Amino acid sequence: WPAGQVPEAAVKEFSAIVIGAGAAGLVASVHLQRLGIPFTVIERNHDVGGTWLENTYPGCRVDSSNHMYSYSFEPNHFWPQHFSTQPVLLDYFRGVAQRYGIREKVRFRTVVEEMAWDEGRALWKVRLKTPSGIEHVEAKAVVTAVGQLNRPRFPDIKGRETFKGPAFHSAEWRHDVDLTGKRVAVIGTGASAYQFVPEIAPKVGQLTVFQRTPPWGFPVPHYHEDVPEGMNWLLEHVPFYDKWYRFWMFWMVTDGLLPMVTADPGWNGPPTAVSEVNQGFREMIAMAIAAQAPERPDLVAKVIPNYPIGGKRSLLDNGVWLAALQRENVELVTDGIAEITETGIVTADGTAREFDVIIYGTGFHASKFLWPMKIKGRGGADLHETWAGDPRAYLGMTTPGFPNLFMIYGPNTNIVVNGSIIFFSECSVRYILGCLKLLAQTGAAALEPRREVHDAFNIKVDEGNKLMAWGAPQVTSWYKNEAGRVTQNWPFALVDYWRATLAPNPDDFVLQKAPEMAG
Ligand code: NAP
Repeated sequence: WPAGQVPEAAVKEFSAIVIGAGAAGLVASVHLQRLGIPFTVIERNHDVGGTWLENTYPGCRVDSSNHMYSYSFEPNHFWPQHFSTQPVLLDYFRGVAQRYGIREKVRFRTVVEEMAWDEGRALWKVRLKTPSGIEHVEAKAVVTAVGQLNRPRFPDIKGRETFKGPAFHSAEWRHDVDLTGKRVAVIGTGASAYQFVPEIAPKVGQLTVFQRTPPWGFPVPHYHEDVPEGMNWLLEHVPFYDKWYRFWMFWMVTDGLLPMVTADPGWNGPPTAVSEVNQGFREMIAMAIAAQAPERPDLVAKVIPNYPIGGKRSLLDNGVWLAALQRENVELVTDGIAEITETGIVTADGTAREFDVIIYGTGFHASKFLWPMKIKGRGGADLHETWAGDPRAYLGMTTPGFPNLFMIYGPNTNIVVNGSIIFFSECSVRYILGCLKLLAQTGAAALEPRREVHDAFNIKVDEGNKLMAWGAPQVTSWYKNEAGRVTQNWPFALVDYWRATLAPNPDDFVLQKAPEMAG
């Protein structure tokens, strides 16, 4: 903030709580620190890193290129691989926390259980569960940076609890369970399983992968490759090369893909596509998949999705997935699971298979935003009751009736084919800081979006999502809530979010006077 634009006292007297010290919480922290705004970070884990701390399954790595899946203010010209592995990512986030002095601001192993807006004093009263008991703290603003994908979801399958052997979720990998020579079942074939199945397949005795819906994989031959030395040299030494490379990727492999997954309302073709371009894209990718298993038409028939490409998150295919499924010790089962027993899994056709270990790659409670925190806004209204399974926010960040509550990676800010969620976090933080600046400049105590602005925005988002492959009625996914509304995804380009979040428009908000000014 340019000197003189914001009263210094207003900045110093402000207080913020950031919930989460993952990738997004660190962006918020770095910039609050830079502006001199007092803040505390509450983190349930023992360390920073969020998803990159929690997910340690074999083969875990980023599937957006690191040269864009990194902070704009902390470029790394020496990523060892284009798509680095989890330990490399975790080191990066730990390094950022260290360099910017964020660790000292974090209260680790502490959970926000409940927060309530105190109308009279215009602040959030927050109940914490700390290692030494319950504690209450207060802050003028709360920034949630809790991610969407960190509450493991186990499937609702009959008998799940009865299985006698080790059974665990991919996000809670049991490194103490030796899989060597074991009969292992994997349930789920999403982004996580796609990465760990090829890693464990050579080690286990027998691997059975239970697939309900196959994923689409884009051919990316360099997915596991090192960044060539020459590229590192260019990034480091040629002026603006790194900026250009990052921009090129944002455009070529993210926003540039949107037209291929956009629905044509006049499309008369099969429901396996949403437009002619989407159909062509589908044929191209299906050919690339089929070419990997020329001797196995039975397998190819199972792994080519029957939903439009872009309907679910597309994965990066360098051949290891199909290679794993073609191993002699690997079986891909597409019959539905009827029951889990003490010793194994029974499919709908009555086949019973025995296992030593079951691994769940079944995803997360993504659409339960901010769950299980209890959040009481103006008039004691409960956020989850207000949303009633249909979370909505203005630009994914603010919601009426919940003043000075700012969400990063909130409703409708997830991206399917286009881009890096870190970019979104940076846009959100810039906007949130713009809101704090607005408070400081006007002397207001709190702000919340106008109902009509919030509603109009959500109508626009819904209309946008209906035109995307992931919004197509024939597609089911965690992007949609029970009513079929896409609650997760941003339907537009990254550049549109960037533009929409450059600075808050004061007219979009209701400003609450400071308590001493009130009345
Ligand atoms: P996911 O994409 O939600 O996949 C869950 C899988 O479990 C799906 O194949 C799903 O099938 C299956 N499943 C769920 N319930 C089932 C049941 N009752 N019976 C049989 N199968 C069932 O979860 P994820 O793989 O953990 O990935 C979640 C998200 O995390 C990704 O979309 C991505 O955004 C992120 N992620 C990113 C990376 C990365 O960047 N490297 C890696 C991992 C995850 P259906 O499709 O039929 O529901």
